[in-house]
Amino acid sequence: MTHFDYDLFVIGAGSGGVRAARIAATHGAKVAIAEEYRFGGTCVIRGCVPKKLLVYASRFQDDFEDAAGFGWTVGERQFDWATLIANKDAEIGRLEGIYKRNLERAGVTIFESRAVLEGPHIVRLAKPHKTVRAKTILVATGGWPNLDNELEGCEHVITSNEAFHLKEMPKRVIVAGGGYIAVEFAGIFAGLGAETTLIYRGPKILRGFDEDVRDALMEELPRRGIRIVTEKVFTRIEKSGTGLVGHVTGGGRLEADAIMFAIGRTPNTAGLGLEAAGVETTRNGAIKVDGHSRTNIESIYAVGDVTDRVALTPVAIREGHAFADSLYGGRPWSTDYEMIPTAVFSTPEVGTVGMTEAEARAAHSEIDIYKARFRPMKGTLSGREERMLMKLIVEAKGGRVLGCHIVGPDAGEMVQMAAIAMRMGATKADFDRTMALHPSAAEELVTMREKWTPPAG
Ligand code: FAD
Ligand code: NDP
Repeated sequence: MTHFDYDLFVIGAGSGGVRAARIAATHGAKVAIAEEYRFGGTCVIRGCVPKKLLVYASRFQDDFEDAAGFGWTVGERQFDWATLIANKDAEIGRLEGIYKRNLERAGVTIFESRAVLEGPHIVRLAKPHKTVRAKTILVATGGWPNLDNELEGCEHVITSNEAFHLKEMPKRVIVAGGGYIAVEFAGIFAGLGAETTLIYRGPKILRGFDEDVRDALMEELPRRGIRIVTEKVFTRIEKSGTGLVGHVTGGGRLEADAIMFAIGRTPNTAGLGLEAAGVETTRNGAIKVDGHSRTNIESIYAVGDVTDRVALTPVAIREGHAFADSLYGGRPWSTDYEMIPTAVFSTPEVGTVGMTEAEARAAHSEIDIYKARFRPMKGTLSGREERMLMKLIVEAKGGRVLGCHIVGPDAGEMVQMAAIAMRMGATKADFDRTMALHPSAAEELVTMREKWTPPAG
């Protein structure tokens, strides 16, 4: 009989890999995990968690400004980037320790090493330099920020990886891209006082989100001092005496102390030995898997960003959990990708679940739209002009709520709750029957009575 060192070998200790390893070990499997950088992966080390801490930091400015209308006099304010980064690093270090200890407690063998595939059952480790044999291998190596390597001067730009460790806060920042990371980081830098420009290749940021959400952010971000340059990309970047100069299509130039690229991420499969093991990938290097996260090779599975399905932490965790329960817990199940709630932690924040209006129109013969754009109560005394957006998309026949889109404070928190009801198949009538919680912004979700009709003409 073939000898295996482990029942399961997991490559990559991020959201998906850690969950899979821990659950498989809890079910009694002999498990090992290899991590080449830091335990916790992108989300904990240089993604969701540090990003949200920076977002919190960037929003205090609003509180200081809003306080005056409520009678407060706020004294001299100063922001110290070094303190924020040091405190953030301490918290990330604490979380990393917890991740590692939880794995150890579950009985998982840990390798602080890069690991690559050498065959359907063989993994080669760099530290210690050896190969191990596993009955099953799970690849959970995540993704990596894209850079436009063809671009002259590309070596001068940073990505989100470096943004978390800048020695000083740049006074002038340009963020390239119009997706989650670009919009979030533009908000962080602007909130912390940097002169911030967002440069996006299309006409409107956040492609794929509901049009009203995109319009709302195109209106609100400039109010917060973010300059949005659309339909332009960099053609060349060079160092100048005082910082960087980015030349853009159409002949313009933009100056900054830092230029950050947030133009998407690519599955982390380069040099991973997938060819040696015979694992099939897509054109952009993502590992092809079936509904149970199994690759074309029977003994090799993959979860999370490396499979390029839905690149969100809770999704990677679910995929890892489903894999482990199915293989080692005698309880096969697979991840359900319907109605995944998501937030963009811009300021103002975006929360969204379900279909956009365009998707709903394509999928259903008739839909009703309910929407409200209003100044939240706090704005009355603070004098802040910012307006919230609440939008519900409803299937006309049957009344099922198909989409919920919110822009404004705590949008993510509200949408998480709405997602439960929507996942259960709630109708607009169910929303309407629910008593409002007053005074709140969320009550708008259960009090919108008038169907929205497009303006005449
Ligand atoms: P990862 O968490 O990336 O883990 C992969 C791990 O594998 C890494 O630790 C890596 O070092 C390791 N590794 C790679 N190759 C090897 C190898 N050969 N050997 C050993 N180890 C290896 N998602 C949200 O849901 N909410 C958010 O707010 C959010 N914010 C984000 C902000 C930023 C700036 C970024 C970049 C991402 C954000 N995401 C967010 C996305 C989220 O971080 C990812 O979807 C999630 O981390 C994917 O988990 P994963 O397990 O697939 O991979
Ligand atoms: P996104 O896919 O969200 O956005 C990429 C952006 O870059 C798009 O605006 C895209 O434009 C633009 N772009 C792509 N290629 C180029 C190019 N060659 N030149 C100029 N612009 C380009 O990726 P992100 O990097 O922002 O984030 C990666 C993923 O991580 C997200 O999709 C999300 O799944 C996850 N994430 C989740 C967060 C959250 O939950 N809050 C936060 C951060 C990340 P176009 O739209 O025109 O293609």
